[in-house]
Amino acid sequence: MSNEIKAQVVVLGAGPAGYSAAFRAADLGLETVIIERYSSLGGVCLNVGCIPSKALLHVAKVIEETKSLASHGIVFGEPTTDIDKIRSWKEKVISQLTGGLSGMAKQRKVTVVNGYAKFTGANSLAVETDDGVTVVNFDNAIIAAGSRPVQLPFIPHNDERVWDSTDALELKVVPGKMLVLGGGIIGLEMGTVYSALGSDIDVVEFADQLVPAADKDIVKVFTKRVEKKFNIMLETKVVAVEAKKDGLYVSYEGKQAPAEPVRYDAVLVAVGRVPNGLSLDADKAGVNVTERGFIEVDKQMRTNIPHIYAIGDIVGQPMLAHKGVHEGHVAAEVIAGKKHYFDPKVIPSIAYTEPEMAWVGLTEKEAKAQGIAFETAVFPWAASGRAIASDCADGMTKLIFDKQSNRVIGGAIVGTNGGELLGEIGLAIEMGCDAEDLALTIHAHPTLHESVGLAAEIFEGSITDLP
Ligand code: FAD
Repeated sequence: MSNEIKAQVVVLGAGPAGYSAAFRAADLGLETVIIERYSSLGGVCLNVGCIPSKALLHVAKVIEETKSLASHGIVFGEPTTDIDKIRSWKEKVISQLTGGLSGMAKQRKVTVVNGYAKFTGANSLAVETDDGVTVVNFDNAIIAAGSRPVQLPFIPHNDERVWDSTDALELKVVPGKMLVLGGGIIGLEMGTVYSALGSDIDVVEFADQLVPAADKDIVKVFTKRVEKKFNIMLETKVVAVEAKKDGLYVSYEGKQAPAEPVRYDAVLVAVGRVPNGLSLDADKAGVNVTERGFIEVDKQMRTNIPHIYAIGDIVGQPMLAHKGVHEGHVAAEVIAGKKHYFDPKVIPSIAYTEPEMAWVGLTEKEAKAQGIAFETAVFPWAASGRAIASDCADGMTKLIFDKQSNRVIGGAIVGTNGGELLGEIGLAIEMGCDAEDLALTIHAHPTLHESVGLAAEIFEGSITDLP
């Protein structure tokens, strides 16, 4: 059975980029259809990414806190965990949010088509639904098909003890000994969860630091805290994984490589994500896709075919939900005839570990590579009353200033809730604030965010004479 529908805008993929584009298009009066292969809206972020990981990280934080409170005079028994209940709680969080999205789609009269979509021409898509093929004829399309985890050729990915992030988030078992392959954000977040639940965690990273994109001083504070829990192997790589009955035997090479293969109950492969651009028959619409599966776009999110747009992970780094949301809004607004562009100065990055690592704008590494004359100002949380009173003094707030203009061009925070504190620095960069603007803004005391103002005060250009 074949069904045919017509849309002014069709959005392919219902992740954060896709649903944001669809809702904005509908709000602007366009007849909108969204296609999603799974029954639940929200994409990777809501179903198997940002949200379930944060729900489990919340559980991990509570477990760790109950253990650490004895020194404050509060003694709990050793926490016991029920992974079935933790899993149901995580599922409840997801369904609350994905259910909310369905309600918002209905309210806006966005038509949802469930099934796998492929282009059949420059103005048509065919969707394999449970009831047969639905053909969607469109004036404009927005491709928001997202990404999937990278697989490595020398790893037996079909063994159920080899996990990607989606498997790890299922929380089926708590492995006794677990390897996190890749010391980036996703690997460390999952390592944090399973460590709190009782797994013995090894982390292996090819670079000379965890989270290679962040500055070394920020990562050092995190590493110092977690190396009591994680066995971290830097400048080391996995060269083979052998699946045996009693476990996965991992062989290493490099600086901290164990001499013999190490046995694990589970191996989480967290070495990045690849875009889904090669599985859409985009060539039938004339859309160029790179060899790796990315789709190139201009600042209005247009592909090489003017009425077809692309947004989110599929257009490139950083593969983050908040980037996709803004791109989605731009694409919908451009289709509605508005002269809008995706032109952010900065896009924040956050590892929601404990402590959190958060950075926005230029890192020191990037400023150096770009030949910018800059200066940093660091406020250590060991000097913060609020941090000491909250038992989280192992943190720091760093600002990076352009030496000529005194403008803030980057910032990073490592510490409890560092991600929540980062917003002010992002806004400061977007608004072109200089050190004086931040130093003269009265921050409430005692708060962790006053560390931003205090860091700015340290910079010598923060107090200038009035003209
Ligand atoms: P996706 O969310 O990937 O959505 C694409 C959708 O398209 C999917 O639902 C897919 O089913 C659908 N689709 C694909 N092809 C087809 C087809 N042919 N037909 C029909 N449907 C199709 N980002 C953050 O900003 N903060 C975080 O804290 C964070 N945590 C993360 C934790 C984990 C474990 C992971 C894996 C990712 C995390 N991310 C985080 C990244 C974030 O999830 C992605 O950047 C975001 O989901 C990308 O959104 P998107 O809309 O581009 O694509």
